[in-house]
Amino acid sequence: MRQIKVNAIKNGTVIDHIPAGKVLRVIDLLTITGKNVVMMGMNLSSGKIGKKDILKIENRALSDDEVNSVALIAPQASLIIIKDFEVIKKEALQIPTYIEKNVVCPNVKCISNEEEISSKFKINVDKEPIARCVYCEKKYKLTEIRVKI
Ligand SMILES: [Zn+2]
Repeated sequence: MRQIKVNAIKNGTVIDHIPAGKVLRVIDLLTITGKNVVMMGMNLSSGKIGKKDILKIENRALSDDEVNSVALIAPQASLIIIKDFEVIKKEALQIPTYIEKNVVCPNVKCISNEEEISSKFKINVDKEPIARCVYCEKKYKLTEIRVKI
């Protein structure tokens, strides 16, 4: 069956399979200017994950830092790069080994909060992903780490 390309973008980035309800947080993370055409879908049916959100941003590529920040909010989302209406790259977002920038250590006494330096976490993904702050060495679940917007 031919897929109908509703709202296809010519060039840009698509983030698919975002957990339902999280697309607005993803949008907040990304610097989207008035020039970017942005299309967003919420609570779409997905055979893969039940309900999903999707975000399409025209004429925009994501930096590595942005991809890593999005991966914290929407791990396993698909990052798709579109050029001339064709998919030229598609990959599942992976939780990175280290995360830094855009993250805040939940420990208020952590030096990264007192000194206005950006926090940095090492991620251990053996079982459930655990993030360890490299400054105060406390361990957190990924959901406990606040992503700065
Ligand atoms: Zn810390």
